[in-house]
Amino acid sequence: MMRLPWFKYHAPRSVAEAARILAAEGPQAMLIAGGTDLLPNMKRRHQAPATLVSLRQVEGLKSVANGVGLTLGAGLTLTEVVGTAAVRGNYLALWQAAAQVATPHLRNMGTLGGNLCLDTRCSYYNQNYEWRKAIDFCMKKDGKTCWVATGSKRCLAVSSTDTAPALISLGARVKLVSAEGEREVALVDLYRNDGMEYLARKPDEILTEVALPSLDGWKSAYWKLRRRGSFDFPVLGVAAAVRTAPDGTVEEARVVLGAVSSRPLLTKAGELLIGRKLTDEAIAEAGDKASSAAKPMDNTDLDLYWRRDVVSVFVGYALREIRGDDMRATRLKIARQAL
Ligand SMILES: Cc1cc2nc3c(=O)[nH]c(=O)nc-3n(C[C@H](O)[C@H](O)[C@H](O)COP(=O)(O)OP(=O)(O)OC[C@H]3O[C@@H](n4cnc5c(N)ncnc54)[C@H](O)[C@@H]3O)c2cc1C
Ligand code: SF4
Repeated sequence: MMRLPWFKYHAPRSVAEAARILAAEGPQAMLIAGGTDLLPNMKRRHQAPATLVSLRQVEGLKSVANGVGLTLGAGLTLTEVVGTAAVRGNYLALWQAAAQVATPHLRNMGTLGGNLCLDTRCSYYNQNYEWRKAIDFCMKKDGKTCWVATGSKRCLAVSSTDTAPALISLGARVKLVSAEGEREVALVDLYRNDGMEYLARKPDEILTEVALPSLDGWKSAYWKLRRRGSFDFPVLGVAAAVRTAPDGTVEEARVVLGAVSSRPLLTKAGELLIGRKLTDEAIAEAGDKASSAAKPMDNTDLDLYWRRDVVSVFVGYALREIRGDDMRATRLKIARQAL
């Protein structure tokens, strides 16, 4: 049985108190929200923080403000995000992404903030301590070599969050608070293409809220490929958001890929659509463009060449759904699949 290492536990009641504790404890402390990623990781000794600072009792992290745009507290569970009417109404890609994270039990515990700060994944890393020791560990934790690309100077572990690609396609910004003050960044800039230092967040910063702009005239969709249709981490996530003129001409578009690099990848496929209608031809071109940007590595489930080729198919699904095609049968087929 895998046991948790010993740790000190703080349960602050406010963001300011949590920030003060984080600053005082230094880099040996970590935040814990739902714990659905961090606790299994601690059991496998991926992370061994001396102190955990819990966000569960922190007031204000569960707020929902629906005015010009929508602001969501980082402490909302994914179940609460899925249950927020405004999310389903105007930010469908987020709703679809959050609804497909893990299982109902994990969505009841797992939070939006935790999902955005989720550790990157790799088949050589998401193993127990003894397994990793048997291969002399790897660069991401306790070792020196990257077993995916032995010549690589950086870790290539994969960003596996479902909600981040969706939120980036929707133009989200996040607020980061520390004892020093607060700042707001575009969500796309929170991520770095580095499997170890995958967040541009400082260790003493708390992600407190996610702000979405008002998206009148936009439509969005999120499509997820995973081995088990019932629940699994993504081996590919495709989020698309498109704003069209009344005659159907695309005015703005964003296509974002998840699980094909160490950060969610905002592609140039959306730019190809601007000034055009969502014809089959335009959609196919956007799919090819996104596919050529994807650089999946051989460190998650399923064959990497197939995973790159299937990007264009999934971009096609997302854009056709946005166009108004009835994609329910395809969604059902994917949900029932076991690859
Ligand atoms: C079997 C299984 C299947 C899963 N499937 C999926 C899946 O399909 N898709 C998916 O995206 N995830 C999946 N997950 C991972 C996880 O359940 C979710 O990502 C969940 O949303 C994580 O949220 P949490 O609150 O539990 O995070 P925690 O585990 O509490 O924290 C995760 C990380 O985020 C940091 N953190 C948490 N909150 C904040 C904050 N407010 N500010 C700054 N840092 C913070 C923590 O320090 C930690 O590093 C799965 C997990 C399991 C065990
Ligand atoms: S990509 Fe390389 S360094 Fe990173 S977790 Fe995998 S094997 Fe380790």
